[in-house]
Amino acid sequence: MRTIEIRTFVADGFAENSFLCWNPAVGGALAIDPGGAADAMAELLAETGRKLAAILLTHAHLDHVEGVARLVRRTGAATYLHPADQPLYERVVQQALAFGLQLEPQPPIDHALVHGQRLELAGIELEIRHAPGHSPGHVVLYAPAEALAFVGDVIFFGSIGRSDLPGGDFAQLLRSIREQVLTLPPETVLHPGHGPATTVAHESATNPFLIPHFGGRFA
Ligand SMILES: [Zn+2]
Ligand SMILES: [Zn+2]
Repeated sequence: MRTIEIRTFVADGFAENSFLCWNPAVGGALAIDPGGAADAMAELLAETGRKLAAILLTHAHLDHVEGVARLVRRTGAATYLHPADQPLYERVVQQALAFGLQLEPQPPIDHALVHGQRLELAGIELEIRHAPGHSPGHVVLYAPAEALAFVGDVIFFGSIGRSDLPGGDFAQLLRSIREQVLTLPPETVLHPGHGPATTVAHESATNPFLIPHFGGRFA
């Protein structure tokens, strides 16, 4: 049964989803992948009077981290990233230049996310699942008590993440989807980095990128 509140922010440009979530019974809030909508996130926090406890990054592509500096400046929250995406994070200014965009350097990462780690932040329990293939240090943030997961750019409604970017690997991405996403309970709601939410059951039954590889039975 879901107890946490989730607000989704969709930015212009890359149309990435950023999330704020909180447990109404507890103070504080978590931010996930603050991108272009970081200021709107900070404003909602100010309106609700919630202190940001942590900024969690599913991975370090530009669109998912470009708001970290602004959100840290306005909230002082600690940042979390898997170390295998640290090199990408440190090249975020260059990532932006590749799109003709100017971006300030992002602040240092405070905490490393580790596969299998269980975190409790602001009254929300998360299990960290390393899911490389789209990027080397991509993680899925699974909240078992809430039956939901933030899956970044691993899997989308009816699609899967790119694996042709530097550090991407198609076989590894499919393995991550099979082992770290489709093993979650079927009713688990997946909140992806782009586009609408979906469920494990829906994607295992209908995702056209998954079905042909396994004769209709990917999971
Ligand atoms: Zn990405
Ligand atoms: Zn993305």
